[in-house]
Amino acid sequence: MMDSLTGDDELRRLRDRLGATDWRNIVVLTGAGISVASGLPTYRGPGGLWTRPEAEEVPDAAMMERDPSRVWSLFGPLRGPLQAATPNAAHVALAQWQARLPPGRSFTLVTQNVDGLHTRAGSREVVELHGSLLHTRCVNPDCGTTPFEDLQEHIQAPVCVRCGQPLRPDVTLFNEPLPVDAEWAAKRALRECDLFLAVGTSGTVAPASSFVRGAKYAGAWTLLLNLTPMQPRHPDFDQEVLGRAEELLPFLLNS
Ligand SMILES: [Zn+2]
Repeated sequence: MMDSLTGDDELRRLRDRLGATDWRNIVVLTGAGISVASGLPTYRGPGGLWTRPEAEEVPDAAMMERDPSRVWSLFGPLRGPLQAATPNAAHVALAQWQARLPPGRSFTLVTQNVDGLHTRAGSREVVELHGSLLHTRCVNPDCGTTPFEDLQEHIQAPVCVRCGQPLRPDVTLFNEPLPVDAEWAAKRALRECDLFLAVGTSGTVAPASSFVRGAKYAGAWTLLLNLTPMQPRHPDFDQEVLGRAEELLPFLLNS
């Protein structure tokens, strides 16, 4: 049975358990909720990219095929705010936790966010499950160019100098599969996981819902930290902690 934690004593007990040094394989999954305090809109929440009136047409695989410039018109202008945003205390707490772990421990930070803030906070080897909005790649899988950093706010599709096909933001659109390398890295980490922490995500939809199943199957202790209670509750989460990531994580991870 899952507990929902909010009281101070409970949070202190939780901090003690998280701070134990015997976790060997930690997997953290973060969603849009962790970046709200950095001033970034969530994708689906109020004011989010895909809930604005002008974005009734969602950027999906079909739009990319039909009209690459339309995709850029939605994503390109987000690059400015992304560069202006700074990592918040939650990003920093996770980076410091990773840096403090004793040698031989495995720590895998998987994010659904495309904002690059974990890396900027100092986290290493971040698995970007939905790609990065600060990277651009060619639409042509046979082109051979690798995704590259691109901070320009394109509103029209630029053209690949190598093959002449359109370039695209290196993000996963609706109806597109996850990047195979990122998905593989996440699944591999979950197989050995003994502590799974999901932050700033509802917990009830993929990938959080499938990740927690995998972690639980591997025998992990599983926690969800989010602003609002899980609805409906996912049976594989052992504990739910309600609050703001930028306040809870620095406390819980003792940074
Ligand atoms: Zn190309």
